[in-house]
Amino acid sequence: MTCADYRAAMSAHLDGENADTAAAVGGPEALAAHGEQCADCRDWLAAARGLQTLAATAQGPSEEWADGLLARLLSSEEAGRDRAG
Ligand SMILES: [Zn+2]
Repeated sequence: MTCADYRAAMSAHLDGENADTAAAVGGPEALAAHGEQCADCRDWLAAARGLQTLAATAQGPSEEWADGLLARLLSSEEAGRDRAG
């Protein structure tokens, strides 16, 4: 499984989609194993969950706060991409 496979499957999971995506990459066990081995994907998952929470609550303490959080999340993902490979 590549990091892209893992992230696609976890993104589908976070969106509440069914388990087909996980099955396509080897099932929940394979996803869990990749998550344990790959720090980049753990960081990505934390950011994705943060974004999901942010979206679910629709707004932070202020628009400025939400913009700042998004910027930090996005820049940390950029850094993750730079480390990958
Ligand atoms: Zn990974």
